Amino acid sequence: MSTEKPQKLLPLDEDWNRAVAVAAHPDDLEYGAASAIARWTEQGKEITYLLLTRGEAGIDGMHPREAGPLREAEEVAGALQVGVTTVEFWTTRTALSSTVWTSAGTSHGRFVSTSRTL
Ligand SMILES: [Zn+2]
Repeated sequence: MSTEKPQKLLPLDEDWNRAVAVAAHPDDLEYGAASAIARWTEQGKEITYLLLTRGEAGIDGMHPREAGPLREAEEVAGALQVGVTTVEFWTTRTALSSTVWTSAGTSHGRFVSTSRTL
């Protein structure tokens, strides 16, 4: 166990108007960043979510074709709760999440082209 004291976080600059929050799966932002995102949307900032998958493989015992749309709908509903109205999903509805990562070059290129549309 580490005996180091955790470093105090510095205040984050909030002098901006638009941001993209990127996460791997639906619900990742809700568990880690949603309270900050709610603060920012309350300030009038525009936040867009970019989810790299639809969470197709995230429910044990449920086929990815069923789980993906369910988790997608949950993500959109969760985003609305914190003032986010634009949720982009990087994968197609028929793709499984593991197919996204076949090539780092392809992933990078897709990220750049997707981010330019936001
Ligand atoms: Zn996750």
